[in-house]
Amino acid sequence: MRLDGTFIGVEVDDARAADAQVAAKLTEVCPVDIYAQRPDGTLELVQGNLDECVLCRLCLDAAPGAVRVLKLYDDGAEL
Ligand code: SF4
Repeated sequence: MRLDGTFIGVEVDDARAADAQVAAKLTEVCPVDIYAQRPDGTLELVQGNLDECVLCRLCLDAAPGAVRVLKLYDDGAEL
């Protein structure tokens, strides 16, 4: 799954996004609530919060290899 804001895009591996434990961890760590959990436990990306990303890398550490944070203001460079 991928969702783009104006400055930041977030891409999460589909299989990992469907894992309720991964979704819960991402939801817990992101300080600006870019990640949320749907009622069925799967991951949701919150469109209105994407551009609030503070580039803290906590999501990358929480789910190694599953998440890409893309700096759209820098030609899509990966965090
Ligand atoms: S880098 Fe930090 S602020 Fe940005 S999406 Fe990941 S956890 Fe959230």
